[in-house]
Amino acid sequence: MKYRILGKTGFEVSAVGFGALPIQRIDEDVAVKVIHRALDLGMNFIDTGNRYTDSEYKVGLGIKGRRDEVFIATKSPARDREGMAEHIKLSLERMGIDYIDLYQLHNVKDMENFEKVLAPGGALEALKEAKKEGLIKHIGMSSHRKETLLAAMKEGFVDTVQLAFNAVETDGAEELLKLAQETNTGVIVMKPLAGGALSSASAAVKFLLNYPVSTVIPGVDSIEQVEENAGIGSREPVMTEEEKSILAADVERLGKEFCRRCEYCLPCAVDINIPQIFIWESYVDRYGLPDFAKMRYKSSVEVEACIDCGQCEERCPYGLPIRDMLARAGGKLSSK
Ligand code: SF4
Ligand code: SF4
Repeated sequence: MKYRILGKTGFEVSAVGFGALPIQRIDEDVAVKVIHRALDLGMNFIDTGNRYTDSEYKVGLGIKGRRDEVFIATKSPARDREGMAEHIKLSLERMGIDYIDLYQLHNVKDMENFEKVLAPGGALEALKEAKKEGLIKHIGMSSHRKETLLAAMKEGFVDTVQLAFNAVETDGAEELLKLAQETNTGVIVMKPLAGGALSSASAAVKFLLNYPVSTVIPGVDSIEQVEENAGIGSREPVMTEEEKSILAADVERLGKEFCRRCEYCLPCAVDINIPQIFIWESYVDRYGLPDFAKMRYKSSVEVEACIDCGQCEERCPYGLPIRDMLARAGGKLSSK
């Protein structure tokens, strides 16, 4: 395995890490085996989340007796001090550990949320207190929007940023990576396969490893995926001609009609959660979770409620034909 320094943390993390969101859907004993295989292959960075149902608990089982081999990152969507303090405690309990290497503010999606976090009584206070008490070692932030990550680096309170970056989501990455280098901030890359939309893990991850990023964390839920990812992270990221053409074909195919989950289209006039509908569609198309997706869809505002106002399309910076895309997704998600 190749290792890279995770910014100010000074920790040498594996170039390819372990995204622990998908282990929610596998049995405990399988999750433990998958994590053990990752550790055996030198993958020493695991990223989980307070919101990922039992993922933190399963990570705790997987690292039992091997705590020193791994850098544990988790995150919470809490924006206030009290909520964040509770979540830190909960994460420690679930994983059965006495400190967390990196605690991240989860998906700080806009400047309004950013300001809440920094305000008196905001979540950052709880993170700083936990750091003083030794419960967490470092503070980070994740977001789908580069704007808040740039602001966090400029404010100087983060040791790491976690961003969605892949061959079809490159907007703003150059500016962010430049500032990360200047401020010695660790860069963790989520969604390297664009939520499963890119067809070759090896092409997608190698593409990213050619940038100054610290670790790329594809989500995994099987030993095969761990072995494939560890193989990619163990070699120089030189793309073959075949990988280059697969990636180029993917970019061409997805480029025109691919939702980047930036949420600029919101709010919808009738409260349809537009990007969430596309995420559920991907659960049907790519993750084999149609029942789960349909259940969640059913409890949301369905696409039939659309009044055709077109406001979302005016706001989408990628010019997506949102109404057509929603109609297509609704057809797959509807139980009628
Ligand atoms: S066109 Fe439909 S989906 Fe878009 S904002 Fe209007 S009501 Fe919402
Ligand atoms: S539909 Fe467009 S504006 Fe809305 S989240 Fe997707 S890419 Fe962003």
